[in-house]
Amino acid sequence: MVKCPECLYSRAYRLADGRRKCRQCGRRFRLASAWSASRLSERAKKRLLEMFVLGVPVYRQRFRAVASAPAAERFYRLARSCMAFEEELREPFSGELELDETTFGGARHGKRGWGAAGKVIVFGIIKRNGKVKASPVESRSKQAVLEQIQAHTREGSLFYTDEWQAYATLRTRGDHVVIRKEKGRPAGRDHINGIEGFWSYAKHWLYPYRGVPTKYFHLYLAEACSRFNHREEDLVPLLERLMNRVQRTAAEKILVQID
Ligand SMILES: [Zn+2]
Repeated sequence: MVKCPECLYSRAYRLADGRRKCRQCGRRFRLASAWSASRLSERAKKRLLEMFVLGVPVYRQRFRAVASAPAAERFYRLARSCMAFEEELREPFSGELELDETTFGGARHGKRGWGAAGKVIVFGIIKRNGKVKASPVESRSKQAVLEQIQAHTREGSLFYTDEWQAYATLRTRGDHVVIRKEKGRPAGRDHINGIEGFWSYAKHWLYPYRGVPTKYFHLYLAEACSRFNHREEDLVPLLERLMNRVQRTAAEKILVQID
């Protein structure tokens, strides 16, 4: 996962002094982790990470702050980028999968943050009793949804969806069970409670952050996925290891991926 900070080429020579030399452009560089991209003290970073894991937004730390609010926000963004990085590398799902789409944000959040730009459409996939993947999609088009399904699921899976017509061609990719609803409740025994549960989980996590800037929405969504996927683990040591493993350039690339 070594990447040249100059040209982003991914192969480099290892020099005797520990530095790397890019095999493409010749640039010499030191490996820098996302953790080291923040120049706060180790103590401050550990404390911020703990607050982050506990779900304490920066604005609630103001009387107990260990760093300025912008520095703390930046550190939080680095943590989220690393989570997004890890989630992107997750293998496509197979087996019994629930697919669904929803919207985040909207008028009730007022003029600030994500409410300002209107709603964000999100498409999600959950493996029954397992992990989740979710991404913002540009539109509710069939095309956008099929691209997600192709990227994140394997052929031959069993797909549970609602009646939305964008799923009409799923039968060519695997088995397809359509959940018909009557007055908001599934008509038979089949359901998509797993993914609906995740939507509620993600919305509850994101709510205390108040305004989520639209250009960073993908990071907040990845944070919710990562928290859900690691829900049985202590995230503090896990995230510290992750932030030391992910290269700074990789994390920063994710930071500015969507505009
Ligand atoms: Zn290079």
